[in-house]
Amino acid sequence: MENEFLNRETELLYKGARISKSTKTPETLPLYMTTAFNVEDLNDLTKRYEHKDYTYIRTRNPNRKALSELVSYLENGENSLICPSGMAAISTTILTLATSGGEIIADHTLYGESIELLNYLNKFDIKVRFVNTCNLTEIKKVLNKQTIAIYTETISNPTIKTVDFIALHELCQQNGVKLIVDNTFATSYVVKPLSLGADIVVNSLTKFANGHSDVCIGSITSTDEFIQQANALQVLLGTVASPFDSWLCERGMRTMDLRLAKQNSNALALAKALSENPYVKKVNYLGLEKNPQYELAKRQFKNNFGGMLSFEVEPDKEKLNHFFQQLNFVHYAMTLGGFRTTVAHPASSSHHDMPRKERLKLGISDGLIRISTGIENTDDLLKTFATALQTFKE
Ligand code: PLP
Repeated sequence: MENEFLNRETELLYKGARISKSTKTPETLPLYMTTAFNVEDLNDLTKRYEHKDYTYIRTRNPNRKALSELVSYLENGENSLICPSGMAAISTTILTLATSGGEIIADHTLYGESIELLNYLNKFDIKVRFVNTCNLTEIKKVLNKQTIAIYTETISNPTIKTVDFIALHELCQQNGVKLIVDNTFATSYVVKPLSLGADIVVNSLTKFANGHSDVCIGSITSTDEFIQQANALQVLLGTVASPFDSWLCERGMRTMDLRLAKQNSNALALAKALSENPYVKKVNYLGLEKNPQYELAKRQFKNNFGGMLSFEVEPDKEKLNHFFQQLNFVHYAMTLGGFRTTVAHPASSSHHDMPRKERLKLGISDGLIRISTGIENTDDLLKTFATALQTFKE
């Protein structure tokens, strides 16, 4: 119906809001920045509910759906949920699985806020037992009839260790326990934990996947059955990512494999150079042949060892400060996975709140520096670190 007789007050709201020419074939997915999709009548509404079609933003949105399809493909899962952060993906997963009286076995080096979240579950009578998930004997000691899940990370922060997924999968299967893996550090470019027996994979897409350090977003990937359960809770918790963040991440991820190939090769080159540097005491990188987990990593990761590494220098605060200042284009950042190389000092950032004794036991010394490699020219990167390391000369 033409609105010929409408007044300015009304037209101001409606004019130009509908596109009349064909928009069916845009080269790239448009941004669906709308809280709702209008329905024609009650029959149309019924059909939309039946077909899980678009109605309201918190329930479904085309940009979230597009990103979900992409992540499911990359992680080799049946379905995915897109959440407003990695933490939202982790909390939605845990709350979907959690039952009062149940227990979770978690790795003792998990991302700090994942540990805090798991400790929070004590309030709801859910016990969490932190162990070294690289060690099956430690897991078996605490595994019992109440255990509902084992939760670990593909590559741990900041000591860069991995776990034996096949062995963990067998143990989980024998005991009817779900295996949850955080794949943020490795990404689906390096490994697909679902193909190695994990039941649920969570990702902070904020990091390597989006790769442009401009959006906070996360994902859960699993069977369609689990994702439907998690989705029902997600809609109630409101842990849904915005269309704009989903759109940005989808755009960022289109170049993910190109970036990761370079980030991984830069990490390997840097790890080798650092291990030969006289001022470096130790290098943690799974791609170094002398790393005790090299063979395991090679088997699981197919010669891709990720873009994260860490190394130890003299724990002298003044020298550390000077080293960070000397790093030229490499900056200190409280994030990782971006296209630019960044560094961090875990003892004063991610593990700042951990008692020193406990931190040292995990191998996080006061002289440990974490690197997330970018896509810079390899020689420039090596030169920058070699020059800044001169700080530790005397
Ligand atoms: N998992 C890991 C391994 C992380 O390093 C982080 C954040 O650094 C998260 C999860 C949380 O991600 P987000 O900041 O997107 O919530």
